[in-house]
Amino acid sequence: MNRLYKTLIYDKQVSLSVLDTTGIAQDARDIHRLAPAAAKTLAELLTCGTYMAGCLKSPKGAVSITVKAGENSGSVSVSGDVDLHMRGYIDGSAEGRLCGGFMTVVKDDGFFRPFTGACELVSDDVSKNMEHYFDISEQIPTKVRVAAKFDGEKCVAAGGIVMQLLPGASPNTAAAVEKKAALIGDVAADIAALGAEGVVKKYFAGETEGTYSYITEPQYKCNCSRSKISALLATMGRAELEDIIKEQGEVSVHCHYCNTAYKFGSEDIEKLFK
Ligand SMILES: [Zn+2]
Repeated sequence: MNRLYKTLIYDKQVSLSVLDTTGIAQDARDIHRLAPAAAKTLAELLTCGTYMAGCLKSPKGAVSITVKAGENSGSVSVSGDVDLHMRGYIDGSAEGRLCGGFMTVVKDDGFFRPFTGACELVSDDVSKNMEHYFDISEQIPTKVRVAAKFDGEKCVAAGGIVMQLLPGASPNTAAAVEKKAALIGDVAADIAALGAEGVVKKYFAGETEGTYSYITEPQYKCNCSRSKISALLATMGRAELEDIIKEQGEVSVHCHYCNTAYKFGSEDIEKLFK
């Protein structure tokens, strides 16, 4: 099940997003054959990415989050677009840990140039790092509670709750959001038991009644294709590609996001330059 539920709460001073990303988390685990700890970290970052993709407005909007963690830790990268097609990968050596290092966010929302923000990692916890990112880089008070739970190869549940203060939100509203965030317990358990709409009812029944809301279905979907890879190869030039064919017998390009290998033989390379 995948769901993104969005609405405004507290007199339209706060945007609320509730996500069920269990299906995305399961797809990510299966595509990359991850151990539970790494699958959990990737799923939680994919949930944050899905939230950000849900805030995009341009029909060509896209967002990516890259985490380059420090020593004895690894790297994670997730990206998605305005259609909520999400993808990601995690460095196998990471074992899900996010100690040290940096997080970078690139948002392309149809403006002249993409917005890039970055912050230091402050915790092993994905939610705390995201809150820190919004605080430092975008200067928007945001409460992030994302979680994923795996039982061996199976994702029991993944999802999250994000509350973001809109410009002009009153101090009383900020205090109410703090209080509400403190009430939120185990989000993965809540999603498993209630689903996204059930979570909205459990925590926000009083604030969402009569407000406009919408629900979309994000999914794990890579945007790579043989024709895109072909176009990329063509920019390398014929001589270099022919050298690779001579040495390795073929040109092989691997998409990290969906674990697909694209193979090109000498005839394919010839066609590229016709
Ligand atoms: Zn791909």
